[in-house]
Formats: sequence, structure tokens, C-alpha cells
Amino acid sequence: MYTQLFRSDEMKYPPTINAGLDAAWHSTPTHAWQSEVIAHYVDAVDEFALRLCRSLAERVGSLTGRTISQRDITVNFAARCARATLDSVVFQLRGHDLSIVRPCAHCGTGQFETPPITDRVDLGYALAGWQAYHPECEPADPPEDTSW
Ligand SMILES: [Zn+2]
Repeated sequence: MYTQLFRSDEMKYPPTINAGLDAAWHSTPTHAWQSEVIAHYVDAVDEFALRLCRSLAERVGSLTGRTISQRDITVNFAARCARATLDSVVFQLRGHDLSIVRPCAHCGTGQFETPPITDRVDLGYALAGWQAYHPECEPADPPEDTSW
């Protein structure tokens, strides 16, 4: 499945997550209650982003033995997911599902998520055995073998 993620609502955490939110707001709150609920929203976003960053760093760390700095993690709040690149491999955590994001195996464009990765076997498969294609890039079925 091809999903276009991380466009204008992409944000880096920290330190620019709030700047991303500011850009999304259309007007300045004019009443105290508006400011209060917006502050609750910002706190919730910060908490969510921090939790997601920690979880992604921990899970990738336990699978790879490598340390990912939270500064290298990008959070997409709208898509409820976080991404980090380690040695050119893009790891993504969406909810509880960890996956790798890879381009189409034929044309090298697009973004496809591997099946959820729960252990090192899954990770090895995602790296070495799994491939995704755009519908128009799928290899044709091999010609029928009539030699038998
Ligand atoms: Zn393709």
C-alpha cells in the first residue's frame, strides 16, 4: 500500500514540534478558555510525541543494538507515527506497529511499509526478503512452463 506521509505536517521533536503546531493554527485565541484548551492540546501532543519517540528508540535499539537519538526522530502527529533513519534504513512506529519504510522494488520511488516487525527474524525478513511494488511496477507472471 502506498501512503504519502510526512508532508506539511511533518515535525521534528524536539525542538520544533510547537512551531509546527503554530503553523497549523488559523487564528490567535481571543478568550481565556480557548488558550486553556489549546494549551491542553499542545501538552497532549508533546506527551504523545515524546512517548512515541521513546518507544521507537527503544524498539529499534533492542532489535539492532544501536542507539537512536530522539533528536533524529521525526514525528507526524496527524499520522500518529514517528520515523527514524538508521544506516539508510527508515524505521517507522505507528501506534504499536514497528515497520520499515522502503521504496518500490522496481522504480525506486514511493513509500511502502513492511509488515509489522516484532523480532529480529521479522527485521531480517523486512530487510532481505520483503519487496513492494506499485501496481504498475509489479513484475509480470513468468511465462507458463510447458517443458514438462
Ligand atoms: Zn514503482
